[in-house]
Amino acid sequence: MSESLFNHLLNPSVDPGRAAIELADGRRATYGDLRAASGRMANAIAAAGVRPGDRVAVQVEKSFEALVLYLGCLRSGAVYLPLNTAYTPTELGYFIGDAEPALVVCDPARLDATAAMAGDARLLTLDAEGRGTLADALAAQPDDFATVARGTDDLAAILYTSGTTGRSKGAMLTQGNLLSNARVLCAEWRFTQDDVLLHALPLFHTHGLFVACNVALMAGATMILLPRFDPAAMLERLPRSTAMMGVPTFYTRLLGQDALTADLCRSVRLFVSGSAPLLAETHRAWESRTGHRILERYGMTETGMLTSNPYDGDRIAGTVGLPLPGVKARIADPQTGALLPDGEIGVVEVKGPNVFKGYWRMPEKTAAEFRADGFFITGDLGRIDERGYLHIVGRGKDLIISGGFNVYPKEVEGEIDALPGVLESAVIGVPHPDFGEGVVAVLVPDHSTPVTEASVTAALTERLARYKQPKRVIVVDELPRNSMGKVQKALLRELHAGLFQ
Ligand code: ATP
Ligand code: MG
Repeated sequence: MSESLFNHLLNPSVDPGRAAIELADGRRATYGDLRAASGRMANAIAAAGVRPGDRVAVQVEKSFEALVLYLGCLRSGAVYLPLNTAYTPTELGYFIGDAEPALVVCDPARLDATAAMAGDARLLTLDAEGRGTLADALAAQPDDFATVARGTDDLAAILYTSGTTGRSKGAMLTQGNLLSNARVLCAEWRFTQDDVLLHALPLFHTHGLFVACNVALMAGATMILLPRFDPAAMLERLPRSTAMMGVPTFYTRLLGQDALTADLCRSVRLFVSGSAPLLAETHRAWESRTGHRILERYGMTETGMLTSNPYDGDRIAGTVGLPLPGVKARIADPQTGALLPDGEIGVVEVKGPNVFKGYWRMPEKTAAEFRADGFFITGDLGRIDERGYLHIVGRGKDLIISGGFNVYPKEVEGEIDALPGVLESAVIGVPHPDFGEGVVAVLVPDHSTPVTEASVTAALTERLARYKQPKRVIVVDELPRNSMGKVQKALLRELHAGLFQ
């Protein structure tokens, strides 16, 4: 079979009668339905003037048709470019200006605002119920479409990074990048056509799209596609699911539901977490409540998944597991690039068939993020332990240098989170006249027992070296998070920039 990703996601050898998708309202689609719908979509995309290699920018709500739009793009050879639904029209202007799509698909409610940003691109609409001018265009199209052949190195998608540390960058992902990662994950996590994946992640991010959808489709499994994460809707469907993929907040929010029990999870064989660090505490709480050890994995928009805790074997809380087959991971000194021995903390560098081709129209940035031997510099700090497990200790940009000493926020957060009355915390460095940066802890109480700046400061004196102790502790109701549940430390740093000035 050709190396086109599409042929592997909707593999003709899968029985067309098998269930592919189940929607929140109970509607179902078989693999045959999905194939026919992707054919109509590919025809509609081609009819809109999109040629192979052209970008199709998509900012729509999650729906069956949105998934079909992704498949239709792959099938017609277009480059799929999904955008976060939270982006404002002004932000959209940046992405459209940068990517120059031939076609933009948006929600009908945003048509005027998007049109103002869309330049020469064709504009079609699709709403959360799958209606709009794109849906109208589909009605006239035939189911058959000769899938456009694509090579391993051809672009399948441009995916913008989450913008946690700065402006989002467009990662160019090839057919080969996505195909190799889906294959590896499918095998490592033992996906088969008997699986039912509970899917509540967004479709515009690597986790929900390339990890969840690609793996499930490649396996010929069924996906229960929910428009968003809603604890009650999840609990209702867990008894019929065999697998769930989520960000850490899915797990903490489900743990807040009394109805979450081991019995409710009796048919589930796999819970996966990623996109942000899973607290060891959440891992333990999940196991004691459900009997399942969450499998934590680590990856990025630019690379797909890089490491995973093992399916069989020890899933170690607080680690992101072992490099996936075909992936090489190493730790280097962030400044000099010199390789560091196991156990030492440095920047994580990776290589593999899943690693992207480069940042869209940013050749200098691309060149700066790769070493001469082809390793990609992730920007994450970590260490590899004696068993080969990778521990992520934070992002390079979040490292605090106070009085010339390195302070790893995760270590300080771990101590604070372990204190009674603390739900979670974020430790940041902000400008300090004497120390360069001063350590600041922002914490959210769980209200089981009172916590104050003084109580936290006192508790930490015995536990952390003086230079790691926060100089200020700020108690807040919640931490700022982006749509992927990632704590926005850049925002916190901005907010508290004047604390020591
Ligand atoms: P930007 O690059 O625009 O600042 P981002 O890095 O958040 O945004 P993504 O590609 O969505 O964009 O996220 C990848 C990052 O998420 C990784 O580099 C890592 O910092 C973090 N991450 C993913 N999985 C895990 C995990 N299991 N544990 C800790 N961090 C994780
Ligand atoms: Mg990043």
